[in-house]
Amino acid sequence: MTKRLPSAVFLDRDGVINEEVGLLYRTDQLRLIPGAAQAIRKLNALNLPVIVVTNQSVVAHGLCTEETLAGIHEELKRQLAEQGASLSAIYYCPHHEDGEVAEYRRACDDRKPGIGMLQAAAADFGFQLQDCVLIGDRRGDMEAGRAAGCLTILVETGFATPVTCQPAVPDRVCRDLAEAVDFIARNGDEAGRVELKSFNGLGPSFGVGKVE
Ligand SMILES: [Mg+2]
Ligand SMILES: [Zn+2]
Repeated sequence: MTKRLPSAVFLDRDGVINEEVGLLYRTDQLRLIPGAAQAIRKLNALNLPVIVVTNQSVVAHGLCTEETLAGIHEELKRQLAEQGASLSAIYYCPHHEDGEVAEYRRACDDRKPGIGMLQAAAADFGFQLQDCVLIGDRRGDMEAGRAAGCLTILVETGFATPVTCQPAVPDRVCRDLAEAVDFIARNGDEAGRVELKSFNGLGPSFGVGKVE
C-alpha cells in the first residue's frame, strides 16, 4: 500500500518536547519529556521534517536574551542527539506586545495563534501547510494549526486539556508526543490518510479522536 504521510510535523516546544516549567529561560531548566526523543527519532526515520515553532516571549519580558535562547536550543538539540533524534529547524518568536524590553515589544504575526512561523517554514522548506501536522499543548497552538490548515493534535503533557483548550478544537487528542507520532506513523498508508483528512475541519471530536 502506498505510504501517504504528512509533508512535515510542526512541534511546539514547551510541554510537548520538554517539560513545561512555566517560564523556561535557563538551560538547566530543560528536561525532555519521557518518550519525546524516541518519538522524534521515529519521525526522523520516516524522513519527515520535524520543525519546532515556539513562542518565546521570555525574551520580550527580559528574562533572557536571544543569545541565551540560542544556548537553550543548542542544549535541546544536544539532549535529543544523545538519543539519536534531530530537529530540522527551530522557529521562535521573541516578541510580546506587553514586553518589558522595548526592542521586542510588539504584536507579531509569528506569535501563535498567528501563523507567521508556519508560513515561513512552508516557504523555506517548500511544502503546503494543509499537508502538515501540528502538535501542541495549548489553545494558541491549536488555533494556529487550524488557521494554517494543518491537522492539529493536542498532547496532554503540557498546559491544556481538551476542556481548557476550548474554544479551540483539536483534530485529535493524544496523551503525549509518543502517542501522537504513533498515530501519524500508523496513518502512513492510504486508508489512514483518508482518516487523517476526514478529521480536518470536522469540528468537535473530543473523545472520538482519542487514540485507543
Ligand atoms: Mg507549549
Ligand atoms: Zn515575533
